[in-house]
Formats: sequence, structure tokens, C-alpha cells
Amino acid sequence: GAERTKNVLILMSDTGGGHRASAEAIRDAFHLEFGDEYNIFVKDVWKEYTGWPLNSMEQQYKFMVKHVQLWSLAFHGTSPRWIHSAYLAAIAAFYAKEVEAGLMEYKPDIIISVHPLMQHIPLWVIKWQGLQKKVIFVTVITDLSTCHRTWFHPGVNRLYCPSEEVAKRALFDGLEESQTRVFGLPIRPSFCRAIFSKDDLRVELEMDPTLPAVLLMGGGEGMGPVKKTAKALGEALFDKEMEKPIGQLVVICGRNEELASTLQSLEWNIPVKIKGFQKQMEKWMAACDCIITKAGPGTIAEALIRGLPIILNDYIPGQEKGNVPYVVDNGAGVFTRSPKETARIVAEWFSTKTDERKMMSENAQKLAQTDAVFDIVKDIHELACQMGPLANIPYAFTSSFSSLI
Ligand code: UDP
Repeated sequence: GAERTKNVLILMSDTGGGHRASAEAIRDAFHLEFGDEYNIFVKDVWKEYTGWPLNSMEQQYKFMVKHVQLWSLAFHGTSPRWIHSAYLAAIAAFYAKEVEAGLMEYKPDIIISVHPLMQHIPLWVIKWQGLQKKVIFVTVITDLSTCHRTWFHPGVNRLYCPSEEVAKRALFDGLEESQTRVFGLPIRPSFCRAIFSKDDLRVELEMDPTLPAVLLMGGGEGMGPVKKTAKALGEALFDKEMEKPIGQLVVICGRNEELASTLQSLEWNIPVKIKGFQKQMEKWMAACDCIITKAGPGTIAEALIRGLPIILNDYIPGQEKGNVPYVVDNGAGVFTRSPKETARIVAEWFSTKTDERKMMSENAQKLAQTDAVFDIVKDIHELACQMGPLANIPYAFTSSFSSLI
């Protein structure tokens, strides 16, 4: 027919593991739902096309989350709108040409931002190019509740919020109700649609076939008190009287190689698997019976889909803080910073308090928003259909940006 393949540009950044996971979730859902109707590009535009400070955002982020106070300052310090606007405007003025070239190279019909700092500049570029009526721009928020205000931009066609709480904040910040939708966090389709047999997975992943299993992780970077918690679990899950383990442990260290090699060098009394960055998180989660993690939104949403009771042991100040009451108040898990306490809870879940574990597992499943990513891409598709045929977009490279400043 007259339909041509539409280009979708997803803007992300490799900070943590969450933004990339969300971007890939959206890409995969587009393919599953609409096949070749859409061409999807997932790009870290800042990294590819601009100089400091944005191309070093990843390093800065890693540095700052390791020095928690600094991150707290950066998060709250840039919160007032006038500060971040001024900051972004300065950066935009400096890098406008490069960002513009970076965006336009893909001739996008639809731009999807899954990053808190990727609304303002791309939206300015669209304006400078006179493409407001021809390019759809949507934001998919990937923080569960206490997200940063830079996510909210009134110039978007749609803002997809993971929770009602976030939607309320968006309205408070000047967005219209017609712009916002609440579907949930986009999780990779491999998580939502797959059905696993725990027995088969235990064989495939070379785990003990019968012992209950706890999964311990700390986001894409392997953050939080992982080492101390692993050690405490090594003791708490070994029954000294019976001289046998009452559970097994899987530690996924993400990109934290130092952590993985330290843990591998230790001796264990219980069955242990220690792994670096894993591509098939859905399998590990399906093979385990509960999870210990920092309050990362991606990991939490995935664990809810798999019905895993959650022990939160840390959070990044600012954007992850609100994830704690989200889990705890809904009865899907508990929060404690103490590795000993964490190990004690797991040992109880695996022995005297299996009922509590089952109840939390059911609550987790109730909270899960399994179809969120499909609802999001279907809604974007509808937007695209409303815009009519998007063919022949006049991509001019005659930015009049310099006349704006
Ligand atoms: N993840 C992964 N492999 C790993 C460790 C983490 O695929 O070895 C994924 C995890 O499944 C989740 C994301 O990375 O989707 C982590 O996101 P989260 O929001 O929990 O924390 P972040 O790393 O962004 O701080």
C-alpha cells in the first residue's frame, strides 16, 4: 500500500542498566507487534555526537552514584526548573549543531526519549526544523515514583508514566491530562511473555534442583552491600546442626567485575553461583524464589512480573527513594540496609515463614504491569496513524538556531 516504513529513534543513555533495558524493551515490542512497519534505532546521541559534559555522562553517573552525597546534591541541586533550564540551554547552545545532525541523520518520524535529560534539546531541534507537526515526540519515564523534573516537558505529544503518582506530578508541572498515559514501566517482552519451567531452568543454569534459591544483585553496575550480604547469606542458609544447606545463592554482579572475582575467591558451605553481566535475567529470576536488590526500577518491575518477594537493601538518593514504599506498602517486600537482617529474613522465608514468602509473592504478582510495553507501543502506533502518512518529511539542515540566541 501507500504505507512506508516509519523511522523510530529511541534516545537513551548507558547510565546504569535501566535506560538501555527500557529502550530495548520498546524496540522488541515494536518488532513483535508491527513487524517491518517500523525501523527502530536505539541511540545514545549525546555520547555519539557531543563533547563534554554530555558524552561523559555515563562516567560522571558512575562516579556520582559511588559517592552518594554528590549524587544527592546533583539530583536535588538541579531540581528547580530555572536552574536546569539554564544549564540545559547553555549546553544546547554549545552543542546544538552536533545534536541536530545526530538526530536528523535518522530522519525520524517518531522520537522516543527514555532519559530524563533528552527532552529539551531534541524538542528545540524539532522546533528549529519546523517539524512540530510532522515528528511525533514521546517520553517514556523509567523511574517509578520520585522522578526528576527534567522528565516533564509540556512540548511532548505523549508522556508515558509508570504510575499514577508520577502522572500527578507531571500534571502539577504543567502537562495536560490528554498528554499523559499510565501503563507501567516498559519491560523486555522476553520477561512478559515467556513461560518457564523452574525444573528445566535449574538444569539449564546448573543450579541445585530442589533447594530454594535467593537471587542477589545490584542493578547493571552491581551496587549496594552485595558482598557483605552474600557472606551473611552463606552463613544463615547453612544449618549447622544438620550440617546441610537450607537454600542456595545466585549473585549477579552486573558490570562490577571486581565484586565477581572477590566473591569467587571465597569458600562457601552452600551452593553458590556468581555471575557477571547476564543477558537472560528473566531466566535467573524464574529459577529463583526471592530477590535482594537495590531499589532499581527495572529490577523491581521485572521481579514483580516473576512474582519474586523483594528485599530492598539500598537506593540511589532521589529517583530511587520512592520505589521503597512502592514495594513495601504494597506488601511485595521489605526494606533493610543490614546484611545480617537480610540474611535472617531469607533464612526464615526458606524455613519457618514460607507462608509469608508466598503471600508476598502473590502481592508482587498483583502489582506487576506485564503488558505495559505493548500498551505503550500500541498507543504510539495510534498517534502515528492519527498523524496520517508521514511521508516526505522535508528534512532541511538549515537550522536557524543561531538567530535564537
Ligand atoms: N541487568 C541485566 N544483567 C545484569 C544486571 C542487570 O540485564 O547482569 C538489567 C536488569 O535486569 C534491569 C537493569 O539491568 O533491567 C537494571 O535496572 P535498574 O533500574 O534496576 O537499575 P540501574 O542499573 O539502572 O541502576
